[in-house]
Amino acid sequence: MKNIRTEAMQCYQCKNPRCRQGCPIHTNIPEMIRLLKEDQVMDAATMLFENNPLSIVCSLVCDQEKQCEGACIRGIKGDPVAIGDIEQYISNSCFERIRLNLQPENGKRVAVIGSGPAGLTIAVLLRQKGYKVTIFEVREKIGGIMRYGIPDYRLPRTILDRYYDKLKSLGILFRPNMAIGGAIGIQDLLDDGYASVFIGTGAWKPRRLNIPGETFGNVQYAVNYLNNPDVYDLGEKVAVIGAGNAAMDAARTAVRKGSRDVTVYVRRDKVAASQDEMDLAMIDGVKFEYMKAPVRITDDGVFIADTFFDEEGKLKISEESAKLVPVDTVMVAVSQVPQNRLVTRDPALKLNDRGNLATDEEGATTMKGVFASGDVVTGAKTVVHAVGESKKIAEEMDHYMQSLDQD
Ligand SMILES: Cc1cc2nc3c(=O)[nH]c(=O)nc-3n(C[C@H](O)[C@H](O)[C@H](O)COP(=O)(O)OP(=O)(O)OC[C@H]3O[C@@H](n4cnc5c(N)ncnc54)[C@H](O)[C@@H]3O)c2cc1C
Repeated sequence: MKNIRTEAMQCYQCKNPRCRQGCPIHTNIPEMIRLLKEDQVMDAATMLFENNPLSIVCSLVCDQEKQCEGACIRGIKGDPVAIGDIEQYISNSCFERIRLNLQPENGKRVAVIGSGPAGLTIAVLLRQKGYKVTIFEVREKIGGIMRYGIPDYRLPRTILDRYYDKLKSLGILFRPNMAIGGAIGIQDLLDDGYASVFIGTGAWKPRRLNIPGETFGNVQYAVNYLNNPDVYDLGEKVAVIGAGNAAMDAARTAVRKGSRDVTVYVRRDKVAASQDEMDLAMIDGVKFEYMKAPVRITDDGVFIADTFFDEEGKLKISEESAKLVPVDTVMVAVSQVPQNRLVTRDPALKLNDRGNLATDEEGATTMKGVFASGDVVTGAKTVVHAVGESKKIAEEMDHYMQSLDQD
């Protein structure tokens, strides 16, 4: 981490701050830096939390290079201001001391299904507006992919434990090990008097490669592996198929858990993950092969072929170039799609043609009173996108619940 005060001094306090435009949820970065320089760090932390309840997390896992720091005017001729480090310092050091204004309880219950960034954002914002909020989570602890996907060396679990304490201090109730769509369905929640239900169940079903051999015992899906790497024995040599965050995390974790030869095979000529992530993966010893795609998996490894762009610019696979790469494990990390357990249980909920939960612009699903946002609606995206969408949906849920009084 860079020296925070020195970095803050670098900020020009631009009239039209490009950093703010570069942030998907328009964090008021110049104001954060101004408050820090004037020793009003608690005001800066409160402002950050109110704009983004997941500020500490975003300061660690956002791709700042492509967002705020990538847009910083200082970056044109030299290094941009280390905005992520400044936000991290402020949010982390003040988190426990932030006191939120809570409106008095209004007697209405809200059910939040899922405790990833989408669910946590909705829970905090609606609790602030006076609703009685209960979070239902199929897993033991809160956090969603932040806890059960992103490795601890990038996002320490203690941060999520601190969020749990914060939720408790706000009076938000939590039901762990509770899958909605099992013993209890959404209709049961509505029948029990919840004024509205929020679905933030994310995208956890691994996207398949759809190649022969994908069911064999030497194949693992990254999103499952990262859930609990210690129960896997990947062996010495691992081929990771993919180019995003999950591919980088799976490769770096495999190295940390003892695999000696880990190569990421990328279909195109660059990765989708941040440059920073890729640099760190290379430092960890991960190798990269570009313009390569798997075509078949056997007990001995994976057949990898070259890819190329045809005259229309479409990516194609040269099947005849396929060669066996002997590996102990093939790790598939080509994104995730939503599970549809809830939809199967409640036929009033519909999916869109991409297999995501269908909502209108206001986040309303096809079931009255039921709203959704985050990966379950957009498909696999990022923490800051889940927070940004959920801020809008919290407003819509509030309007909807207030309108119930006028019916
Ligand atoms: C390996 C990996 C690394 C990533 N790295 C980054 C990164 O560095 N930066 C970044 O910004 N984004 C990253 N992402 C993406 C980011 O984590 C997601 O976009 C974000 O977590 C989506 O938030 P969400 O709240 O929609 O869903 P999730 O985080 O998936 O949370 C959904 C929650 O709902 C729960 N749930 C599901 N079904 C039910 C049910 N029926 N009943 C009750 N609870 C249920 C789940 O257990 C989970 O806790 C990464 C994703 C992966 C897979």
